[in-house]
This record gives sequence, C-alpha cells and structure tokens, in this order.
Amino acid sequence: MTSQTVHLSPPDVGPLEESYLIEALRSGWVAPAGPALQAFEGEVAARVGTAGAVAVSSGTAALHLALLGVGVGPGDVVVVPTLTFIATANAVRYIGARPVFVDCDAQTGNVDVGLVADLLRQLRSRGERVGAVIPVDMFGSCADYAGLEPLCAEAGVPLVEDAAEALGASYRGRSAGSFGQVGAISFNGNKIMTTSGGGMLVSDDAALLARARHLSTQAREPTPYYEHRELGYNYRLSNLLAALGRAQLVRLDGMIGRRRQLRDRYAKLFAPLPGVRLLGTEDSDSNCWLTVITVDPERSGWRAADLAAHLARHDIETRPVWKPMHLQPVHVGAESLLSGAAEQLFAHGLTLPSGSALSEPQVARVFAAIDEFLAMSAGGPAA
Ligand SMILES: *Cc1c(COP(=O)(O)O)cnc(C)c1O
Repeated sequence: MTSQTVHLSPPDVGPLEESYLIEALRSGWVAPAGPALQAFEGEVAARVGTAGAVAVSSGTAALHLALLGVGVGPGDVVVVPTLTFIATANAVRYIGARPVFVDCDAQTGNVDVGLVADLLRQLRSRGERVGAVIPVDMFGSCADYAGLEPLCAEAGVPLVEDAAEALGASYRGRSAGSFGQVGAISFNGNKIMTTSGGGMLVSDDAALLARARHLSTQAREPTPYYEHRELGYNYRLSNLLAALGRAQLVRLDGMIGRRRQLRDRYAKLFAPLPGVRLLGTEDSDSNCWLTVITVDPERSGWRAADLAAHLARHDIETRPVWKPMHLQPVHVGAESLLSGAAEQLFAHGLTLPSGSALSEPQVARVFAAIDEFLAMSAGGPAA
C-alpha cells in the first residue's frame, strides 16, 4: 500500500467535519458527555425513525449492549448469520451465550429465512432457550424483515438488528436500524459514515436504552460517591467524536449518492458479462456501502481472485466477502445450519472499491484496470 493506493472504503471527511470538531473542542466539552453527544443521538434516532438512541464507542459495543438489553444471558443460544463480520458473533460470546450459525441466501448474502425457521424449530424441540436472532444488513442491504419479523414474533424470540453496515438504507419504506427490539449501527472508519470509531443503539424501547446508557458508563449509580451495583462497561462515545458524527450525518445522503453512482457504473460494466452479477436485491433500498460481485468462473472464464490479483498489481484494494463464522478458528465447535451459500460467496465474491471519498481520477483508474483485465481474460473458461 502506498499513497497511490485506491482503498476500498476510505473515510470521507473534509471542511465540515473540521469545523464541527473545532467547535466542540472550543466549547470545552472534551470529556465524554456533552451537548454534541446528545444532539447526535437525537439526530440519528430521527434519521432512523426510532424514539431514541445511545451513542457508544463502537458497533461491537452497541451489539453487546443490545443483546444484554433484550435479556440474552449465559448459556442462551443466539441465531447469527454465518456470513457476517466477526463482531456479530463475538458480542454473543462476550455474554457467555452460544452463537448458532445459519447460512445466507445466495442472491443477497443476507440470512436465509427458511433456514432460520428450520433452526428455530429444531432449537425449540430440543428445549433450548433462544436469546435472540441477529439478522445482519449485509453490505448495506436490509435482511428480509417481511419474513424475519413474523417468524421471531411467533417464536417469542427478540430480534436484534445488526445494522452496522446499513445506516441510510431502507426496506419497504422503513429505515435500517428500526427493525426488531433494537438496532446496532457502526461508525467505524470504513463504514458509510464515521466518527473514526463509534457506534449507536437505536430503539423505541426507552427502558432498554436507559439500561444500555447505564451499562455504558460503568453502571455508575447517581450518588455523590462512586457506587456500582452491577457490572458495567466503559462504552460511551466521546462528545468530540459525536461532533464529527453530526457533520457526517449532514453529508450522509450525499455520500450515499456518490456510492450509488459508483455501484451503477459497476452494474453497467458487468451486466453484459456472463457469470458475473452484483450481490443484492431490489427489495431493499441499499445504502450501497460496498459493491460486491460474484463470479462463476465456468461461465466468465476468470475467477474473482484473478481480478483481485490484477487490481492489486495496479495498487487497487479489493477484498473477499466476510469469511464465514463457521470457518473461523475462534468459533470452532459452534453449531451451524448450512446450505453452502456463504462458502460459495466467500470463494467467488469480490468487494470492489466503493468509497464516497474516491476521487474521479481514482475511479477512472479502477475502471481502466478492470477494462484491461477483461480484455486480457476474454476467451474461454478458466483452466
Ligand atoms: C463493522 C461491523 C460491526 C462492528 O462495528 P465496529 O464499529 O467496527 O465495532 C458489526 N457488525 C457488522 C456486520 C459490521 O460490518
């Protein structure tokens, strides 16, 4: 990696972020709590359409507190998509609960609702206590909530939405983050908008949010001395970073628009090619966080890994999709219900440069390099 490197999804910050940060710094609110923090929570809740929000230091922390908030306890089983970032499964383990991994839909990469139904039936017949189901809005496209919400309601299992990648996306007119009892958002540096590091819980459940806020500040009681009756965490987002987030939120729609433009260009480029398609579905209004192609080498004549290697030679970053959780050494031994779809996506998927901060010359470099690759690869299936 050099300064010439085209990154996958670099932070998109400029003069507006600078002015918000300096204002927060000059206001003297440098300690964690402060007016920017409160304002940021209100603005994100309004954007998502929930009654409230609690800002925390990461999306992972938001997931951890969300699971505690819906009552997940040690020994519970929690249903987790096998195709996700490690944080979804790790948050379950922090509590001493057991993730059970379930496979995804091959077209969207989102959790396979039919398999979740099968799994819930199996777990119930075995008498397991299921603490939660955590659908993930994969790469910024909402999971199939028309299927998942009634399923969880019927089974009496809380739904916790991992909307870490999906702020600004929607599904049938509802915003990502607003599904289930509580949603978790991430503001990590590579996400659609960033506080350099941060996250948020969004929910209509005031009691759940109040408890999350309490746990995020070391569960400190409102006494003049330090009194703690339960185990808390130091998870609160700082006021300065909230100020950065407020500036990013102002620009969110513009940043989504830029990513959508990029996705449309990729779609046009790959549409005529046999065996190549973009991951996703029309059913979800994606925030276009990351554009992912899947490549069937039998039909395309080349592999996703070949394109990745070619782009790497041009100093252009790509990534495979998430390595499935059931293949992760840290979660070895966890139970899973699989169809093979996630392993297929891991083998044949490729995440392309998608960031809103990519300059026009950088984008031109990416497309020129892909054109060059396609010209070289034309002719016959891969050996
Ligand atoms: C990024 C991400 C998280 C974790 O967010 P952090 O802010 O990095 O802790 C959780 N789940 C998914 C699906 C993510 O992509």
